[in-house]
Amino acid sequence: MNASAPEARRVLLAAPRGYCAGVDRAVVTVEKALELYGAPVYVRKEIVHNKHVVQTLQSRGAIFVEETDEVPEGATVVFSAHGVAPIVHEEASARGLKTIDATCPLVTKVHKEAVRFAEQDYDILLIGHEGHEEVVGTTGEAPEHIILVDGPDAVAGVEVRDPAKVAWLSQTTLSVDETTETVDRLRARFPLLLDPPSDDICYATQNRQTAVKRIAADSDLVIVVGSKNSSNSVRLVEVALESGAGAAHLVDFASEISEEWLAGVTTVGVTSGASVPEDLVDGVLAWLAERGYGTVELVRSAEEKLLFALPPELRKDMRDAG
Ligand code: SF4
Repeated sequence: MNASAPEARRVLLAAPRGYCAGVDRAVVTVEKALELYGAPVYVRKEIVHNKHVVQTLQSRGAIFVEETDEVPEGATVVFSAHGVAPIVHEEASARGLKTIDATCPLVTKVHKEAVRFAEQDYDILLIGHEGHEEVVGTTGEAPEHIILVDGPDAVAGVEVRDPAKVAWLSQTTLSVDETTETVDRLRARFPLLLDPPSDDICYATQNRQTAVKRIAADSDLVIVVGSKNSSNSVRLVEVALESGAGAAHLVDFASEISEEWLAGVTTVGVTSGASVPEDLVDGVLAWLAERGYGTVELVRSAEEKLLFALPPELRKDMRDAG
């Protein structure tokens, strides 16, 4: 090869990326509900944190609301993948709403862990981001017992009733490395800290972070497709930067990519958050191909085969409808 020839431009495409089993289930739940009951179907909060997905479902007749009191009495409401506090179920029932719960089963698992630790009178240190819907929902399972720990720096200020009766749980979409650091600091303060029975950070979050690490060090620029309110997508940008990417940016659509980001860039890493449909990634790849980054190398670090059944209340109605 000519030593002075410019390096070939290329894309490293991370895998796994995009839709996880919980997002797929939640989106299909709204689609099937629209087919079965007809529009409108109400959805409490964004069904998943992705602008494109929400806009597409809106165009088919889904109405997104913040709270159940915005849903007309007797109407159908779907709860989002992030989960809801028990009080939301009670409010919906008091208003006579038909509810379909699209909470990801892996979030439900964390809710159950919270209930069990609370029943045993533990203080539960919930590692997560203040105000995130999943954290609000999990906290609602045992508000008297849960103390939010928003990252390693928050550990010093944590106060518990009894240092011998403390457990930790986490939001499902956190940075694995940062959460390890938070837990290490918590354990230094509370040596008897009890672990959750299994990982709370879900398989999809872990796999997408591992995958972006594999491409980051070889990438001058990493583009993460995802929305700004998507926790796991934002974490992918952070992990890419921590793992050696020259730069990393989050975009909802290819149109948000700036030409300036490509200055001096030979290798572009591409990945997407767990709530991102693949056609948005295709759009980014097409945009890059038009600018000379047409060679795409797939870098796969895991296979994913998990699928979740649709919510039982919806399956029953589908069966009844024949
Ligand atoms: Fe479930 Fe994980 Fe997907 Fe969240 S990111 S919906 S917890 S599988």
